[in-house]
Amino acid sequence: MNLIFLGPPGAGKGTQAKVVCKHFNLEHISTGDLLRSVVKSNSLIGEKTREFMNKGLLVPDEIVVEIVAQEIKKNSKGFILDGFPRNLAQSEFLESALSSADIFLNKVFNFITSPEKVVDRLSGRRVCPKCRAIYHIKNMPPLEEGICDKCAGILAQRDDDKEEAIKERLRVYKQLSEPLISYYQEKGILCDVDGDLNVEPLFGIIKEILEI
Ligand SMILES: [Zn+2]
Repeated sequence: MNLIFLGPPGAGKGTQAKVVCKHFNLEHISTGDLLRSVVKSNSLIGEKTREFMNKGLLVPDEIVVEIVAQEIKKNSKGFILDGFPRNLAQSEFLESALSSADIFLNKVFNFITSPEKVVDRLSGRRVCPKCRAIYHIKNMPPLEEGICDKCAGILAQRDDDKEEAIKERLRVYKQLSEPLISYYQEKGILCDVDGDLNVEPLFGIIKEILEI
């Protein structure tokens, strides 16, 4: 079973992907984590990626797709791509990279989330600058307000998680994802799900769809 989870930041894709992967024994591929680990490696592609990142440039679509495709081919399990591809070019590169290895996508879950919900989820997020632990003022508050449970660091809000920045991230997401969503719709593998739901009820729905 090979899946993609698409959706705006704050749609709960990562959390849901963990739950679905555990239940169906799939590999959770989060491009951010994958890029970070490739950059630390001594591989040729790691070196190439590092060059772009050191210059403060975006890693080109071809390279990101190559890294993702390598990771997929390395694994015999099915996978969930969490928040990837991000644009139409990446999805086309990905399809050709995978089809040459006889790997095909089964379903693309499109997390539809209201902007209010996204702002609520992301603007409540607090991170520990020392140990990188993540909290949420409503859903996962630290024992003592503003203080990290693990290392007593002073929690902070990332600039990215401030309301204005969130609205901008949503605008960019919408622009990049529209062609991507039609691309998978035309292939008949797109499945809309309600990203406003909490983890458990949404998992119930996804599980039912996958078990058909
Ligand atoms: Zn901490």
